[in-house]
Order: sequence, then C-alpha cells, then structure tokens
Amino acid sequence: MEIVQEYKVMVQQTAQRSYREGLVAGTSGNVSYFDAENRLVYITPSNLDYNIMKPEDIMVIDLDGNVADGPHKPSSEWRLHAEIYKAKPQVKSVIHTHSPYATGFAIVHQGIPLILVEMLPFLGGDVPVAKFGLPGTDAVGLHAAEALHNRNAALLENHGVVATGNSCEQAYLRAVYVEDAAKAYHFARLMGEPVCLSAEDELYLRKKYNLPLENH
Ligand code: 13P
Ligand code: ZN
Repeated sequence: MEIVQEYKVMVQQTAQRSYREGLVAGTSGNVSYFDAENRLVYITPSNLDYNIMKPEDIMVIDLDGNVADGPHKPSSEWRLHAEIYKAKPQVKSVIHTHSPYATGFAIVHQGIPLILVEMLPFLGGDVPVAKFGLPGTDAVGLHAAEALHNRNAALLENHGVVATGNSCEQAYLRAVYVEDAAKAYHFARLMGEPVCLSAEDELYLRKKYNLPLENH
C-alpha cells in the first residue's frame, strides 16, 4: 500500500495554519485528506502540539480506523472524518475547528443565516447546525454528514465547526469563511436586526454559482 508523503505535508501544513491563524486553541481541532484511490485517510494525530507537528506525525488510517502508517494515535475524531468521506464521495479533505465565534453559535444551537454573498460560493448557503454527538462517536460524523447535505460546512452543537473541500486548501478556506460569517453575524446582532439576502437574490446567485436550486 503506497503511503504518499505529499499528503502528509498538506495535512500538517493545514493543521499548523489553523493553529497559527486562531481557528483552534491548544491541541483542539483536526485535519484530514482522503486518498480515494487507496481508501486511506491522512489525519492529524490526537493531542499533539501543533508547534512541533511534522509531516511524519500525520497518521494514515482506513475508514474503519485501522492504522496503516504513523507513530501516534489518530485524531479521536477520526469517525467524524470517515463518516463524511463515506457519505460525500466528492469530498477530499475535512477540517474540524473550534473557531470562537462560530463555536459560540454552535453552543446556542443557532446556525448562521445567509447574510453575506460569499457564503454561497464558499459554503453553499447558510451554515446549518449538526445535532450533538458525543466527541469521538459515530454520531458526530453521522449528524455532520446529514447537515452537510448541499453544504460545505456546518456547526457541531456544543462543539465547533466542520468544513469540507476538494483539497486541504479549499476545506481550510471554507473554515475561515465560517468564522468570518459568524463574527460578522455576531456584530450585526449587537448593532440591530440582521437582514438576510432576499430569496430572489439568493436564487439569482445560486444560478450564477451553479449551486443546487432545490432542497437548499
Ligand atoms: P484530537 O486531538 O484527538 O484530534 O481532538 C481534538 C478535538 O477537537 C476533539 O473534538
Ligand atoms: Zn473538537
């Protein structure tokens, strides 16, 4: 079974960036990349300091959590990542963060409505909230996969954020856009009554960005 060094580098760099740019604190959060051809997940190790994380620390597991390569325990949230890869074949990378504004909304069980145009191309629309699941269980992944229907990112009740993409770079950017929208929404609510994009404008933009028009 071929282990691809380049995938380890992508996951490690994205994980360190998430720490550097404040999307995670301590050792929270995790990042993965799915090698669909070999059905292997390249994922950050559990509880390892981002400052010292190297490409060789990245774990390689199958979709059942069996370790194929790497010296550590894989992320305790590997089931979250695996369930999303199983449910959404187009997804190649998953990132889980605890970014503070978005996590605030996850704690009050409120999604982020469609308040910014960018949310359509980057996130696929508003940001839904996935039902609570105990950390590390299949439930977290199953509920997340459900919320991610026609969406690229979701909040996880009383936990944080999950974002997906066709590359680590794309999943990462989407996690950044979730936090940006959450922050803007938070301030808007302090200032007055936020106004969402109109249904008409949303429809126009969905067509423009080739996004699904039904069941969105
Ligand atoms: P890991 O360090 O095991 O990836 O866990 C971090 C986390 O965010 C748990 O939800
Ligand atoms: Zn977490």
